[in-house]
Amino acid sequence: VLRGDLLVVEGRVAAVGDARDALRALPGGRAEREFDASGCFVLPGLIHAHLHLCQTLFRGLAEQHDLLPWLRERIWPFEAAHTEASIAASARLGVCELLASGATCVNDMGTVRHTDAIGAVLEQTGLRAVFGKALMDQGKGAPAGWVERTEAALEDALAIAKRWHGRANGRLGVSLAPRFVLSCSTDLWRGVREAAAREGLLVHTHLAESPGEAAEVQAAVGETAARYFGRHGVLGPRFIGAHGVWVDDEERRMLAEARAAVAHCPSANLKLGSGLADVRALREAGVRLGLGSDGAACNNHLDVLGEMRVAALVSRVRSRERPLTAREVVELATCEGARALGLEARVGALASGLEADVVVVDVSGPHCAPHEGSDPYDVLVHAARASDVRLTLVAGRELYRDGRFTTLDPGAVLAEARAERHALLLRVGA
Ligand SMILES: [Zn+2]
Repeated sequence: VLRGDLLVVEGRVAAVGDARDALRALPGGRAEREFDASGCFVLPGLIHAHLHLCQTLFRGLAEQHDLLPWLRERIWPFEAAHTEASIAASARLGVCELLASGATCVNDMGTVRHTDAIGAVLEQTGLRAVFGKALMDQGKGAPAGWVERTEAALEDALAIAKRWHGRANGRLGVSLAPRFVLSCSTDLWRGVREAAAREGLLVHTHLAESPGEAAEVQAAVGETAARYFGRHGVLGPRFIGAHGVWVDDEERRMLAEARAAVAHCPSANLKLGSGLADVRALREAGVRLGLGSDGAACNNHLDVLGEMRVAALVSRVRSRERPLTAREVVELATCEGARALGLEARVGALASGLEADVVVVDVSGPHCAPHEGSDPYDVLVHAARASDVRLTLVAGRELYRDGRFTTLDPGAVLAEARAERHALLLRVGA
């Protein structure tokens, strides 16, 4: 932690701390534009490791459920009723909230259809993202005609990767996103494993989220999700599994040996009553970790800063003797999240040469005061709020500053979201 300046040149961090020499080397000896961050913390942009932008429109529509009934009775019928326009509205609303709360990068699962519409929103709004189409070729409770044939699902996912992977100067990446054990056949997992290795894509899925799911997985495949993934060669350095609440010591070792990653989503785990992930044990086993909010339908917000506080609080109860420190929680949402997504050579830290994904958080408000002499990590995790974010940059591009967006019109986004949600509910008959 240091007091100083941050210089960004051509989208990259050029100097941190003392920027005087680097400034003198610029044409004219000065920066084109300045931002006065007095009274603020300047930190790497927050990395959101597990998200469903398609569910932002469903915020508050699926309350008081456990995971499987929540999916079958509410979320899947809603997702199946999406049009291109409604999914774009859902994604734009999510991106608005994310940029205003300091997220600069997301790992999005998408849904079965309209992935290109999500890609177009991500491209246009400037957010960094890995995104994919949710793969489902089977599953009790899925709406009729929505689940796809194995080959068709994989072909579509690979065509999406061809169109989008590496686009916008590498700001956008594509993953393969088999939804979870119960919605994918063994053939589909095999296809995903082969395609991910061949194309160098992340595999983004859900892993051991709830006890009800664990029981159905056990009944369906005769073992736990982590062991099933291990046996089918799905675990590996490009694997990121959301949640990882219900994993034992041996499974943690398997995940660590495979260099797999887990996206911790503590608010969603609390709200769906799924349980408390043991992040200390995952970390000590050597499992790579990120932090996410999951979708707005089970959280109900997408704010990583808020999720950091919940992660710290959950850890205090779950790992009483050795809870995560505030600094460790900040690492989950920044440098470790970048590693979990394989993006550590681009983002995740404020270091010369990395892309300038930066967030400025104002800690001068009364709810953060007095903080002189306090650990700045504690101030950030436990006192600061999403609404304290003043500036969000992705690759040096200003996307949000003091309540204003440069790529989105929030009034139009909200109006569109209300109209599209209304129309979607009519389509569902809800
Ligand atoms: Zn999820």
